[in-house]
Amino acid sequence: MTTTLATPLDTAVVHGRRIPTGLFIGGEWRSADSTFAVVDPATGEQIATVADGGAHEAIAALDAAADVQDRWRHIAPRERADLFTRTHRLLLARADVFADVMTAESGKPLTESRAEFALSAEFFLWYTEQIAHLHGTWAPASHGGYRVITTHQPVGPALLITPWNFPMLMIARKAGAALAAGCPVIVKSAKETPLTCALFVETLREAGFPAGVVNLIHTTASAPVSAALMADERLRKISFTGSTGVGATLLEQAAPGIINTSMELGGDGPFIVLDDADVELAAQQAVVCKFRNAGQACVAANRIIVHSAVAAEFTARFVELARALNVGNGFEPGVDVGPIISERQRDTVVELVETLRATGAELLIGGSARPGPGFFFEPTVFRVTGRPAELCSRELFAPVATIYQVESTADAVAFANDTRYGLAAYVFTKNLSRAVAVGERLDFGMVGINRGIMADPAAAFGGVKASGLGREGGHDAIYDYLEAKYLAVTVDEEEGLS
Ligand code: NAD
Repeated sequence: MTTTLATPLDTAVVHGRRIPTGLFIGGEWRSADSTFAVVDPATGEQIATVADGGAHEAIAALDAAADVQDRWRHIAPRERADLFTRTHRLLLARADVFADVMTAESGKPLTESRAEFALSAEFFLWYTEQIAHLHGTWAPASHGGYRVITTHQPVGPALLITPWNFPMLMIARKAGAALAAGCPVIVKSAKETPLTCALFVETLREAGFPAGVVNLIHTTASAPVSAALMADERLRKISFTGSTGVGATLLEQAAPGIINTSMELGGDGPFIVLDDADVELAAQQAVVCKFRNAGQACVAANRIIVHSAVAAEFTARFVELARALNVGNGFEPGVDVGPIISERQRDTVVELVETLRATGAELLIGGSARPGPGFFFEPTVFRVTGRPAELCSRELFAPVATIYQVESTADAVAFANDTRYGLAAYVFTKNLSRAVAVGERLDFGMVGINRGIMADPAAAFGGVKASGLGREGGHDAIYDYLEAKYLAVTVDEEEGLS
């Protein structure tokens, strides 16, 4: 298969790193009629302008994906795996570039960008290793007379829509699975973090992915762009990570064309500390789980639910650790908590704190935005009394922790499950049997037992209820991009005797 020789036309220099700023369609970087600004949330300053694509460019990307679909699905597993191996090597060689760009446009501390990059590269390796093992099955029909051969074929061109909070991980996780399965992709970046996506796509291009297999659209008009693609019957798959509201809209758009969907949506993670927990461990893990990425994570500890027997000890230690967090520009050494992604989002955090105060929740630390430049908010901890309706099924998505008290394990489980969401939950107890029993009763797709971080390529990541459909990672993730196909082969059983 021939590969494109296109080179990036328009570029921006961010932290000394040159990054393509165009759209990538059919193996070429292209400009658009308009552009939009990318802002560093730690300074409020513009760091680049990127091409602003519309429905026209999106359909051109789908044209390219549809054209190459047949060739791409028939590429031999070894050849496809070789492209992945080359990509993985190129990614590792650019680890520092990726980390710098992620911090520049998302604001997350450099240490977090490096960790996210390392995990993203691991995902790519995981899929590389799976490509050669996508086998089918062979079975006799129930009453003989023919054989049932089951194989898998790629779903078809896939639209991958990602959020800004994990700009590298979200796209590496989706694109890795889709491409490994043999689907060409159209990546729709988040407008806050298009540069990480651009670097990723440029790396795939350099690794030799054929023209049309990977396409990239940046846009400030997400709704019309995705609606145009969803209305085109050549699009066969949408994989979305973002808010539950937008996910529901996309599910409606997918219905008329019966488009295959995968949804990674919002969360309302309970972080349960039982009366026999290692309180020091629980407090340390709660701080990471809550304040990583300035609280802007779908799997963040959204409700910290603590048994009354350890509530005072846990709260004191949690507050002490949260108070010690260093807030600042993610490029500065020793910074633990970076800025909120945008001024608008920072203002929603201010409103959230006002809502919490109005419920009578007790402010233990923080509670204020920091003066600019940049969009910073202090790590904030509230002790909440009762179960205020305003906080019911509410994803905080902010460096704001809420601590609730319960009187029993049953109370903790009931409160944890009292939400429309079902993404990640956490349980802290020294009793393994209890951990398993509680874990099994929690209506969540993932349960961390005595740990507050649980992302791994080997794990099936995803949620139940309003948190989503499908899984990313683990052994089965590629099958979200494959459809079973069965061939019935007539066999005359007597032939073997003649
Ligand atoms: P969002 O839903 O506003 O945006 C996500 C993406 O969808 C962006 O690329 C955006 O441009 C695009 N988009 C927005 N409206 C659209 C529309 N009408 N049609 C098509 N695309 C549209 O979410 P966000 O604020 O960027 O991200 C935060 C949300 O994402 C939170 O709810 C968080 O929990 C969730 N999230 C979930 C996971 C997960 O794996 N479950 C991971 C990260 C984030």
